[in-house]
Amino acid sequence: MPRETLKRPSRQGILESLERIVGKNFVSHRLEERYYYSCDPSTEEPHSPGFVVLPGSVREIQEILLLANREGIPVTPRVGGMTLSGLAIPCEGGIVLDLKRMDKIVELNRSSMYAVVECGVTVGQLKTYLEENCPDLWFSMPHAPPSVGVIPNALIHGLGQLSLSYGANSDMINGLEVVLPTGEILRTGSCALGKSWLTKYCLPDFTGLFLGWFGATGIITKASIQLWPKPNFRDALFYKIYDIEAIPQVFLMITRSEVCEDIYMFSWTGTSGRERFPLPEKPVDVPEITMDIVLNGKSLEEIECKKRAVRSIAENLLRKGVPIEEYARPPQAKKDVLMVPRTFPFMDLLQGGGAEYLGCYIPPPLIAAAYKRGVEVAKGHGFQYLHFLRPMRTGHIVCILYIFPFDKRDPNQVKKLVNVLKELSEECINLGGVLWKPSSILQNIVMRNADSEYLKLMEKIKKSLDPRGIMAPGQWMLY
Ligand SMILES: Cc1cc2nc3c(=O)[nH]c(=O)nc-3n(C[C@H](O)[C@H](O)[C@H](O)COP(=O)(O)OP(=O)(O)OC[C@H]3O[C@@H](n4cnc5c(N)ncnc54)[C@H](O)[C@@H]3O)c2cc1C
Repeated sequence: MPRETLKRPSRQGILESLERIVGKNFVSHRLEERYYYSCDPSTEEPHSPGFVVLPGSVREIQEILLLANREGIPVTPRVGGMTLSGLAIPCEGGIVLDLKRMDKIVELNRSSMYAVVECGVTVGQLKTYLEENCPDLWFSMPHAPPSVGVIPNALIHGLGQLSLSYGANSDMINGLEVVLPTGEILRTGSCALGKSWLTKYCLPDFTGLFLGWFGATGIITKASIQLWPKPNFRDALFYKIYDIEAIPQVFLMITRSEVCEDIYMFSWTGTSGRERFPLPEKPVDVPEITMDIVLNGKSLEEIECKKRAVRSIAENLLRKGVPIEEYARPPQAKKDVLMVPRTFPFMDLLQGGGAEYLGCYIPPPLIAAAYKRGVEVAKGHGFQYLHFLRPMRTGHIVCILYIFPFDKRDPNQVKKLVNVLKELSEECINLGGVLWKPSSILQNIVMRNADSEYLKLMEKIKKSLDPRGIMAPGQWMLY
């Protein structure tokens, strides 16, 4: 039955039912809280939820979903709400499930190197926990504010400091526990067979039924997250690159050497502070791109050896005519680069507080083309460009982020930026790229370009797991 035709129970009746499930302190329908959960810094339109609910257990989530499913109430899960593409905005109102109270670290398995965490555990919390309890292991952390969720980041195929070695953070999940919209509790991975959260390598793997869906197929309540040996030492080298055309060659040689922990490239606008607005041209002596290379090792000798390897690659590139040059950064700047999560000076907001970035996974040889199209499209609509590049999985793919701070108070600017994001999405898809965590507007472009049989399968899965269409309406609107 379409959601619009469902007969809704009274608001007061729903409120009382929710209060019975989680207790009065953990439900709100007050305007100020509903406002807080209605928007984020992206261009996505705000939508106010009817209720904000903070469940404290799997049982409570189950009861909430049973109620929502029975009454046809939309449910949108969230932890940090920080994707910068509006993925946790409750597009059709209903219930926002804020999962932050579910913050237990259920198991730390040192020998098999994983942690089982509840759905509200934040990146900052797991990082601190490991530093205090198991300092020789770490996990792949997004360079996002520490209040974002470990599980949401993995669910949206996020990337962290270990993604150059091991892929997206969704590749580092051993298994999930999920409450389905119809109330059943499902486990994927080895925990579907017994107690162990060791691996996905057992039954046909259904973990993917919940990855990349932005909450539209169920609520993940626990996940086993892979941990990795933490290096004893880390250091960084810095390079200036003067020619965009050189990027694919630089990436190819440096990533395939397999000596780097992480590699970041920024357009000049990412290092030049606020004076880049509104639209100054690049000064001639400023390199188009700067590159930070992070190295790690068990010993200082290992680091020195890796530095020599990188420097020798750079010399080689220079001999081949690639305009690349090492430069030094002040100790504090270097320290900032080595922090995990690190901060990026360009993620400051302009007046008006808007920020959105379009992420695209691009085949490495096409990265210069994607970069240049980004410049043209941004400038064509009157925006300054700001590009950020990160190779993943030893350089199999490169993630390019087109970042736009903007004035959210100006509807004209918002409209223009939406057009920029749409145009860039089409360009990236035409180049053979795929979009990362697209907003609901951009999901339509993905679906227009997707294979129809694949979309039909998505629809079948969605209808079978979420027959009343209550979960995360607005995300992957297949029918
Ligand atoms: C300054 C800055 C830097 C950033 N840098 C990075 C970076 O380096 N790498 C990176 O990957 N990202 C980065 N991000 C993007 C984003 O912050 C992260 O990906 C973050 O992990 C999202 O987590 P969240 O808790 O904010 O997710 P939310 O917005 O709360 O949730 C994300 C999505 O998952 C769904 N969801 C949440 N919990 C569940 C659940 N339990 N079950 C089912 N669905 C659920 C939500 O409905 C939503 O669709 C950055 C963001 C900012 C603001």
